[in-house]
Amino acid sequence: MPSPFLIVAIDGGAASGKSSTSRALSERFDFLHADTGSYYRAVTAELLRRGVATGSVDAVRAALGTLALSTRVEGRSARMEIGGRIVPEAEIRSPAVNAAVSHFAAIPEVRAALLAYQRGQAEVARERGFRGLVMEGRDIGSVIFPDADFRFFLHADPEERARRRAREGQTDSIAERDRLDTSRKTAPLTCPPGAIDIDSTFMTLDEVVNRITGMLATRLSPVA
Ligand code: C5P
Repeated sequence: MPSPFLIVAIDGGAASGKSSTSRALSERFDFLHADTGSYYRAVTAELLRRGVATGSVDAVRAALGTLALSTRVEGRSARMEIGGRIVPEAEIRSPAVNAAVSHFAAIPEVRAALLAYQRGQAEVARERGFRGLVMEGRDIGSVIFPDADFRFFLHADPEERARRRAREGQTDSIAERDRLDTSRKTAPLTCPPGAIDIDSTFMTLDEVVNRITGMLATRLSPVA
C-alpha cells in the first residue's frame, strides 16, 4: 500500500512550543514545515515598510492585492516570499512587528488573503515529494485544514511561556498578543472541537514530540 500523505495541524498560543515541536516532527516524518505565524509576520513587516497603519483597512486592502506571494522551500521549511524576497528573520521578529502583527491578523481581509496561500502549501509539499505537511498557527485545525489527519492544540502556563521567550532573548508581549488573538471575531485562537489538547507546561520538548510521534506512527512510520 502506498504511504498516506498526512496533514498535521499544530495550534496554540504564543511561545506554546509549536515551532520547536513542528520542526522536530518535520524531521522525524520528512514533512514540509509551514510556520504560519512567520507568514503573518512577513506580511506585517511588508505593510509597515510601506507605511500602512493597522487602523486603515482601505490601505491594507489595497496593499494586499499587490503582495505577490510565493513559496521558497529551504530544507524542510516552506518560507514565504513577498515579491520574490524573503523578509529577514530579524525584521519579522522585531519589536515593531511583535506589536503590530495581531492587529493586522485580526483584519478579515488579511486572513482571507492568506487562506489560499496556506492551503496551497499542501500542494507544494506533494510536488516536492514530502510525506506530508505539518502546519503551525492559530486557526489551522479550525479554519485552514479542519479535515487534517491530525489536529493538536498546545497549551502552556503563561509564566512558563514568558520564560521560554525570555530564554530565546526576545522581548515579546505574548499575553497581549494572546488576548488579541483569542478575542478577535475572525478565526480566534481556540482549541477546535475534536483537536487533541496537550498541556506542555511540565513536559520537555522531547516528551511532547514523542507523544505526537506515537499517534502519527499509527498511520506513517517515522524516518528519523
Ligand atoms: O506564531 P507567532 O507567535 O509567530 O504568530 C504571530 C502572530 O500571527 C500571532 O500572534 C497571531 O496574531 C498571528 N497568527 C494568526 N494566525 C495564524 C498564525 C499567526 O493570526 N495561523
